[in-house]
Amino acid sequence: MPRESFDAKKSRTSEIIQRLKVAYPNAHCELNFRTPLQLLIATILSAQATDKQVNIVTADLFRKYKSARDFASADPAELESDLRAIGLFRNKARSIRACCSALLEKHSGEVPRSMDELIQLAGVGRKTANVVLGNAFGINSGVVVDTHVARLSARLGLTKHAAPEKIETDLQKLVSNGEWTLFSHLLIWHGRRRCFARKPDCVRCEIQQLCPSRGKVG
Ligand code: SF4
Repeated sequence: MPRESFDAKKSRTSEIIQRLKVAYPNAHCELNFRTPLQLLIATILSAQATDKQVNIVTADLFRKYKSARDFASADPAELESDLRAIGLFRNKARSIRACCSALLEKHSGEVPRSMDELIQLAGVGRKTANVVLGNAFGINSGVVVDTHVARLSARLGLTKHAAPEKIETDLQKLVSNGEWTLFSHLLIWHGRRRCFARKPDCVRCEIQQLCPSRGKVG
């Protein structure tokens, strides 16, 4: 296959976005939340867990703990028990308490609106910060690179990198800034519904004509 120019890749990416928008007109963050704090907590909980598992746990959790102060002052054993249905619950309980203590000390209990401030918080990396900024505040700070975005970006030939931050840099060059948050939703939705990790459904795939991996993944 001849080497694709950057401009050609950019216009192919744009066509991928258009088709995925048609396929998934309602693509959105599938974690349930009502406030930036709830989304921050849900995203911390989502590491190595499905959104479905997180939503089950947070349905009760957010009724019990309503503010950063509630989480920061939670009894450690009780919070662990409230999170027990989720993997890595001890680490996550520790991160949530530390994160919410810092929110109280440095941000009056509110979730900050900048990448620099968010990634200073316990349990918050670039991916979590991008989720919160993009979905709670409508700020396109970057592209969320989770397991689906990483897999699809590679299959679609949009990156050769494996490290999330390098993948994100490649995607930021190909997608216009105003669509960064939506683009990650579209890839995540397509990854969950069509381009599965094992046995992707290439035959019914809406972007098969734009994909160099069509029919090549087992
Ligand atoms: S053609 Fe296959 S590998 Fe390519 S995006 Fe579609 S499902 Fe994934």
